[in-house]
Amino acid sequence: MSKARTAIITGSTSGIGLAIARALAAEGCKVVLNSFTDGDDDRGLANSIAKEFGTEAAYIRADMASGRECRALVEDAARRFGSVDILVNNAGIQHVAPVEDFPPEKWDAILAINLSSAFHTTAAAIPHMKRESRGRIVNIASAHGLRASPFKSAYVAAKHGVVGFTKTVALELAEEHITCNAVCPGYVLTSLVEAQIPDQMKAHGMDRETVIRQVMLAKQPTREFATVEQIAATVVFLCSDAAAQITGTTLSVDGGWTAE
Ligand code: NAD
Repeated sequence: MSKARTAIITGSTSGIGLAIARALAAEGCKVVLNSFTDGDDDRGLANSIAKEFGTEAAYIRADMASGRECRALVEDAARRFGSVDILVNNAGIQHVAPVEDFPPEKWDAILAINLSSAFHTTAAAIPHMKRESRGRIVNIASAHGLRASPFKSAYVAAKHGVVGFTKTVALELAEEHITCNAVCPGYVLTSLVEAQIPDQMKAHGMDRETVIRQVMLAKQPTREFATVEQIAATVVFLCSDAAAQITGTTLSVDGGWTAE
């Protein structure tokens, strides 16, 4: 990568987002970490990344459920680091229930955090990217942006929305040297997935390994989780010069899930 770029990664204090922040820092980017909490641990994480990779890093608290805070995150990052060159919309939550029992407040939260946040951050980042005449927007969608599963109505709706939003933004920015793509991971063993294992063990009367292989990875032909590092490396690629003509598309990292 050329001169130091500033990257904002939403929802980046754990899991895939943290791995993306680390990988972009390793490439020399200044990174902005984000979550909705405001603890010493959060700031400590940014400090340790700055030290480990010899770059600048900041933690900015913003709740991705709030459009106003999404936009403030981008403006705050631009003020601190002078530009916004890479935006990774990663924050996401999950809730699993049949449609008729799905709590409306969970539906609203999932749509806000997993979909609308990307609209607000992207809208705020575009003027900064246009000013530099360069930019990379990467949305972390999901295999559930391309395929459905029962009991995940809000998540599937939001992730399909992210894929549609990605294509639209790509078309609007096609002549601005700004690309917009979505990465679609299959199952990655993070806290979001880990939290589902005990319920699945109970529901199926299975031990942990059997649940992982026969229930969770049933749709993933490789029968292996993707790793956070593999997702992060895919984002780094999409942010590279080699990917300048890749825009408005999805890149699946799903062990073959969506080939079926
Ligand atoms: P995770 O729970 O480890 O990370 C989610 C991150 O989002 C956390 O850092 C959390 O603090 C943050 N977050 C949650 N609510 C927020 C809010 N209101 N405001 C700001 N930040 C908030 O989960 P993960 O698996 O790393 O998920 C990251 C992204 O990858 C999500 O969009 C998820 O849908 C997507 N994804 C995950 C998998 C998987 O198998 N783990 C598969 C496909 C897609």
